[in-house]
Amino acid sequence: MLAERLLLNLLITIAPVLIYSVLSDKNRKMNSPILSGTLQSLVALTCMIFTHANYGFHWDLRYVPLVLSFLYAGPRAGGMVLGTLVVTRIIMGGNTIYFGLANTLLTALLSFIAAKRFWKLSPNKRVLISSVIGCWPLLLCFVSFNTYHYFQGAPLKIVLNIPDIILIGFIHTLAIIITSKLSENVIERKKMREEIIRAEKLNTLGELAASIAHEVRNPLTVVKGFLQLMQKEEQGKNYEYFSLVLSELGRAESIINDYLNFAKPKFEKLEKFQLADVLSEVVMLLDPLAVKQGVTLKSEFNQNDFSLFTDRNQLKQALVNLIKNAIEATPEGGKVGIQFKHDHQNAIILITDTGKGMTHEQLSRIGTLFYTTKDKGTGLGTSVSLRIIETMNGKVSYKSQPGVGTEVRMILPAGKKEEVTI
Ligand code: ADP
Ligand code: MG
Repeated sequence: MLAERLLLNLLITIAPVLIYSVLSDKNRKMNSPILSGTLQSLVALTCMIFTHANYGFHWDLRYVPLVLSFLYAGPRAGGMVLGTLVVTRIIMGGNTIYFGLANTLLTALLSFIAAKRFWKLSPNKRVLISSVIGCWPLLLCFVSFNTYHYFQGAPLKIVLNIPDIILIGFIHTLAIIITSKLSENVIERKKMREEIIRAEKLNTLGELAASIAHEVRNPLTVVKGFLQLMQKEEQGKNYEYFSLVLSELGRAESIINDYLNFAKPKFEKLEKFQLADVLSEVVMLLDPLAVKQGVTLKSEFNQNDFSLFTDRNQLKQALVNLIKNAIEATPEGGKVGIQFKHDHQNAIILITDTGKGMTHEQLSRIGTLFYTTKDKGTGLGTSVSLRIIETMNGKVSYKSQPGVGTEVRMILPAGKKEEVTI
């Protein structure tokens, strides 16, 4: 009889999570605490209706919805279930009413306290914590059951019915594990759905922006060409104005090119080359900027022999963007270092600077499209570089300390013909 009732209770406790998961698939706004509170209160009530009375005590799974609602749906939903349990227990009455009420309140209190830190845990730990908290009312029930019967003078063999204890403990724990696992699945599915929708939106937006950028680039090139022709015939102030207009047009063009490169890096010519050669070219290209800023550019890779198979110009672009950032972040008298080491498959390039560094918050935003802290910045350089390296199957990581400097670590695989993505 006890087993039957408990198994029925088990089904009752699982039902709302299943209903919830079906409904929330159709309706995206299904996370109101009132709704969970109502569903779990119904579960608690039904569990108490199908309870198993044994020597004045009632055995059922009412604590499962109580613990779950506090942990997963918050204090409001938990409060609703607590209210339902207290009222129903008072209506049921009997000699053991105070034990019942005390156990309910103590379980609610523990769940309420645990709920505060619950969402900081990983999903698996949340299931574990729910199960541990789920065992707490069981312990309370057995203690109060035995205390009550001890004072009633009952013979010990009735009080300690081992198979029943094991059965209750097992089904109670099973119910908590199943329901919390199911809740976690619902949460994960919901998160994944949101992520997919967000990615889809971003994708459409990116495609739209890329096609607009592409369309704008052609007329811009035409305008620039004609302006250059017109500039040749001008003198004096007008000539200066033309220079200004052309330089701004050049800036707009480079932003558009950067953006298009970010949207779809084009690896036009794949070739085998020495990494040290490209690094030397980049250093030579950026040396004037470093001199202008009063920064020492130090490179150590002359003896290193490592060849890559990829688009040389794209790699150059990626390196230029990152090293330029390092130079721009470094005050006069500072140092920017470029080193590289390698094993058989990968090259590790380190770009270090003694610049202003970045805070944790800034670091978390780096690589986000259009994020910049500079007056004339575009916020495209890092995003483009990260995208290029990613397309080369490489990785970039940042270490930075405000006021001390930044280290950019780039891992580049040698890249065989068939591995390189275009
Ligand atoms: P931009 O250079 O146009 O601002 P980027 O995408 O190249 O755009 O860089 C974004 C931001 O990241 C910069 O504005 C700067 O604040 C920060 N940043 C990048 N590299 C460094 C670095 N080495 N040291 C300090 N800050 C950096
Ligand atoms: Mg930059």
